[in-house]
Amino acid sequence: MIKKTSLLFTMLLLSSISMLAQDKDAVIEAIIQEANENSQLETLGHQLMDGIGPRLVGTPQMKNAHDWAVTKYESWGIPARNEQWGEWKGWERGISHIDMVHPRVQSLRGTQLAWSPSTPKKGVTAELVILPMVSDSLEFVNWLPNVKGKLVMISMPQPTGRPDYNWEEFATEKSFEKMKKERDEQTEAWRENIENTGLSRRTLPVTLEKAGAVGIVASYWSRGFGVNKIFGAYTKEIPTVDLELEDYGMLYRLVESGQKPQLHIVAESKELGKVPTFNTIAEIKGSEKPDEYVILSAHFDSWDGGTGATDNGTGTLVMMEAMRILKKAYPNPKRTILVGHWGSEEQGLNGSRAFVEDNPEIVEGVQAVFNQDNGTGRVVRISGGGFLDSYDYLGKWLHEVPKEITDEIETTFPGTPARGGSDYASFQAAGAPAFSLSSLSWSYWNYTWHTNRDTYDKIIFDDVRNNAILTAILAYMASEHPEKTSREKAVLPISNRTGEQLEWPTPRSPERNGGQN
Ligand SMILES: [Zn+2]
Repeated sequence: MIKKTSLLFTMLLLSSISMLAQDKDAVIEAIIQEANENSQLETLGHQLMDGIGPRLVGTPQMKNAHDWAVTKYESWGIPARNEQWGEWKGWERGISHIDMVHPRVQSLRGTQLAWSPSTPKKGVTAELVILPMVSDSLEFVNWLPNVKGKLVMISMPQPTGRPDYNWEEFATEKSFEKMKKERDEQTEAWRENIENTGLSRRTLPVTLEKAGAVGIVASYWSRGFGVNKIFGAYTKEIPTVDLELEDYGMLYRLVESGQKPQLHIVAESKELGKVPTFNTIAEIKGSEKPDEYVILSAHFDSWDGGTGATDNGTGTLVMMEAMRILKKAYPNPKRTILVGHWGSEEQGLNGSRAFVEDNPEIVEGVQAVFNQDNGTGRVVRISGGGFLDSYDYLGKWLHEVPKEITDEIETTFPGTPARGGSDYASFQAAGAPAFSLSSLSWSYWNYTWHTNRDTYDKIIFDDVRNNAILTAILAYMASEHPEKTSREKAVLPISNRTGEQLEWPTPRSPERNGGQN
């Protein structure tokens, strides 16, 4: 159930404000003033996104980011460290440059996927081919020798580069419906054809590679103008590149019309062997209850098609800025305030799962975890995560945050625990009260999440500033709270899907030796 904080609830809280209201207000005032008048968000955002760049697990940039964070915290007087929790395949992205060289010359917009094997320095030049329609795997195997020495296009060409909202605004209803119907049919036929080959998204590129292809050309449109999702390559020897929709469509049509287009692809990268992976941890020690913890949480890694600005640069900025502000406005917290900048969330919450597994005494001492990881928007949803009494404490803390920041927040109590999605799930699984500060979308899913357009210019700094204030005040209130928070679990609802009662998720072990497939 979703409900707005009720008036009755607000009045109940008003009557329970403690006698320390004066001091409390002074700290909150100081938090708000520091956030608004001495904001470091723009500087931090520029240094992290523009200077260091994307933070793919196992890359030198990821390590640079961890070192940068430690240096920042130390410059603010907050002790910080990088904790190694595993190893990953080391890889460094080099130059990607893709040109059509036949039947005419045109530079194309695209990039190699993460972990793509390198081309020679001079690149590779070859003709493009498309997948045939086949009725079974035998027919596909018979066709396979055709890929020798060729670049293979493995994605369905999109019938339109206009997002649906654009069609909805301008198309006649009839042509919009027709386009959607034809696109659905095309998508279904494409899916069936891939199924007929007997291969999957993962095994198809490897099979083409083994058959002598010299490169894989894909296009993963994210259903907005100019956006593609950029994930990882599956090939072992030959490059895999992603082309933006417009160029991919043009090339596909040229192949179909018999023009035999050729590309010159330079996709340089370096394999760096096994490298250590880290979490960055910083702490302001508690003065009364150092073994109880308020944890600020945001994953630090990203995919690398953009610079990871909204996934999760902004969550990172919120937590760093909140820590900086707390150190100034509330330097002697009752409980320890710890921030975790987790590695390798994108491959399965690995950094936070490792932290939970390696630090049972900290997990035991958790007062509250606040995680932010769904974009740049101001926080508009908070769930109690299935903790039966979360309404009591979280509601009280939220009440101390200025109304202009909490006005739009819809709360759900007691809610249900997450089974993944972001790092708070790692803590919830271990029974520690952990909460997601969930953002307004700002077109996150189509336009920035894992895309080539997840960059600094998409950050909405006023919203991020509000989130830093919200997080700092929640951390302050959680630290000051008279009692340790209750971990009692709510009776979970019956699942609509299975018809059975939901069970509390259990902790899972991280991948500590990644990218070795
Ligand atoms: Zn994320």
